Amino acid sequence: MNKITNHMPTAELQALDAAHHMHPFTANTALGKKGARIMTQGKGVWLTDSEGHKIIDGMAGLWCVNIGYGRPELGEVAKRQMDELAYYNTFFQTSHVPAIALAAKIAEIAPEGMNHVFFAGSGSEANDTNIRLVRRYWDIKGQPEKRIIIARTNGYHGSTIGGGSLGGMSGIHAHGGKLAGIVHIGEPNWWEQGGEMTPEDFGLMRAQELEKMILSLGVENVAAFIGEPVQGAGGVIIPPSTYWPEIQRIVDKYGILLIADEVITGFGRTGNWFGSQTFGIRPHIMTIAKGLSSGYQPIGGSIVCDEVAGVIGSDEFNHGYTYSGHPVAAAVALENLRIMQEEKIVEHVRDVAHPYLKAKWEALTEHPLVGEAKLVGLMGSIALTPNKATRAKFAAETGTVGYRCRERCFANDLIMRHVGDRMIIAPPLVITPAEIDVLIERARKSLDECYAGLKADGLLVARG
Ligand SMILES: *Cc1c(COP(=O)(O)O)cnc(C)c1O
Repeated sequence: MNKITNHMPTAELQALDAAHHMHPFTANTALGKKGARIMTQGKGVWLTDSEGHKIIDGMAGLWCVNIGYGRPELGEVAKRQMDELAYYNTFFQTSHVPAIALAAKIAEIAPEGMNHVFFAGSGSEANDTNIRLVRRYWDIKGQPEKRIIIARTNGYHGSTIGGGSLGGMSGIHAHGGKLAGIVHIGEPNWWEQGGEMTPEDFGLMRAQELEKMILSLGVENVAAFIGEPVQGAGGVIIPPSTYWPEIQRIVDKYGILLIADEVITGFGRTGNWFGSQTFGIRPHIMTIAKGLSSGYQPIGGSIVCDEVAGVIGSDEFNHGYTYSGHPVAAAVALENLRIMQEEKIVEHVRDVAHPYLKAKWEALTEHPLVGEAKLVGLMGSIALTPNKATRAKFAAETGTVGYRCRERCFANDLIMRHVGDRMIIAPPLVITPAEIDVLIERARKSLDECYAGLKADGLLVARG
């Protein structure tokens, strides 16, 4: 097979990129001066850039390339589907084979009672769908005043106006505003916010903020609660064990709808098909995207429980996207799920990759920069700190040290992302023990270099 290689020199590509391409979540003028790193190929957990570096991808792209790069089956399926039926809509009493087959497959692997799928093109779109779904549900039930959705500070639910409003990131709200009717409670981030409390007490306290919020708004005004089983973009915040059971108790007690945003945690990331299974959550709606197609095609959706789907289906729902259930995206997602099932990739995460990585990841706490190191399935984070005992922040502006660490990782051909001063990983689910060894070796080297640099620059100082 011919490889697609771009022979234009890196500097010329970077200049064109700077001149014409607006990158998401980026200060484009500054990037233009520095030049973007240009990726050209991917195979398994490995990326190659335009300078020929072989990089181990500790982030599976953006948490999505669960089966790894370069699986030819997906391209073959895409071509076959394009040749056969490149596009048709599902709006006007029509359907097509890929959307039908994918919806049925998702229902098969989803938790019991979750048998209905509304397709979208992305996670953000799916969460926009969810806002309308839950409000429409209460309309039809004769309680149209139940409209408020409770979400969490530092949650991430996408960056459309709906998804960005559900998310609790002030930096996103600051750019373009936030929808009314969405409120936020605190996040279960014990490392940063737990103070003298035990993680378990802190988890309970944070969950009980939901009850307080419901009571202060009046349950007659509350439609739903949304949360990620594990906050991803917020820094891989794995909640204390007490958190989700208490949230579930409160949701059940007040009868509001529960939306689990499984865009990252879905499709094997936590060692089960869904994060809700790992944490014992019983949602009414699950948001999916990313791992659904392993990022080979843009597709997302909402998995809806029988009760909610029945109510919504009792009348017209004036909502949908041109590309809802797009046949090529659906066919590719279906092939991705076939590979995941056939190759037992979820079992690989649970029985092989997670236990192997967990021991090595947690051992990073021996490093002088690392306070805590946590891992669920194959999503992990480490907190960088100048003082482990007090869980201190650095005196430098939050993110300074994380950014420096990420730059060392980049230089050592490891992709590890930083969120503030946390470093996070979510490698492809197919990563092998030998590849985990490489990841850890490069991470240690990068941490060492970061530490030496901080020392030299006098930045190993705790915030006063
Ligand atoms: C990435 C993400 C989204 C948004 O998905 P897009 O496909 O980028 O729109 C929503 N929720 C969570 C939890 C995510 O991680």
